[in-house]
Amino acid sequence: MIVDAGNPSTFIDIQNALESLGITRIDYLVASHPHVHHVGSFAQLIHAYDIGAVYTTEVEYPSSHYRNYTEALEATETPHVILAEGDTFMFGDHVLVEVFHPRAGIEYYEGYPEGSTQFINNLSLLMKLTYGDSSFLFAGDLYTASEREIAAKYGERLKSGVLKVPHHGAGTSSSRPFRDAVGATVAVMISDAIEELRIYRNYSKAGTDTYITSIDGSVLVSTKGDGNYTVISQFDRINGLLN
Ligand SMILES: [Zn+2]
Repeated sequence: MIVDAGNPSTFIDIQNALESLGITRIDYLVASHPHVHHVGSFAQLIHAYDIGAVYTTEVEYPSSHYRNYTEALEATETPHVILAEGDTFMFGDHVLVEVFHPRAGIEYYEGYPEGSTQFINNLSLLMKLTYGDSSFLFAGDLYTASEREIAAKYGERLKSGVLKVPHHGAGTSSSRPFRDAVGATVAVMISDAIEELRIYRNYSKAGTDTYITSIDGSVLVSTKGDGNYTVISQFDRINGLLN
């Protein structure tokens, strides 16, 4: 399963990562939301790999990159599954996937997609993977408005060992109610920068082992399903950096 896949230029990195992991088929290609830095390499992935199905929210976004990948879906006759709040499915025999957001039936405002960044980010897919006593929460680019709504509604059910931090660790996201509900042991911020040190510190002060890909490089989190996690990062941190 691949959840989001970066800009078009990221394709080569994904190809290398899949190769080093010995993965030749993608059963689930999942888009949290249709912005280019999440789905930009989807068209290339769809053409290059055998894909089980592409999973997205129902949000449509009339950009050239979005069209590229929806055209690739049609050209290759790859199945397209639309996910919404309340959906569950099995990833293999042992991993349960639960979708908490967005709800079905999106209402576009007059003039969409003009000025739609916040609208689209708040409709990111929030998806939890549970394997035994271990769990991973993928939060796309959710902003605090959706985080608060979801935390109030689902509370404890969001509890996850590993969190893909919403919106790259930016200050638009990671509100207190959301962080508290998730209570992550490990958090990973996927970003080319330190978006906001305050957000990083909010996690690390709460005892969460927090990684930023701009500093730590690629981050591999593995688990045997016992609630314990092994993290391997590409680069070692200089002592005390960001403390
Ligand atoms: Zn993003």
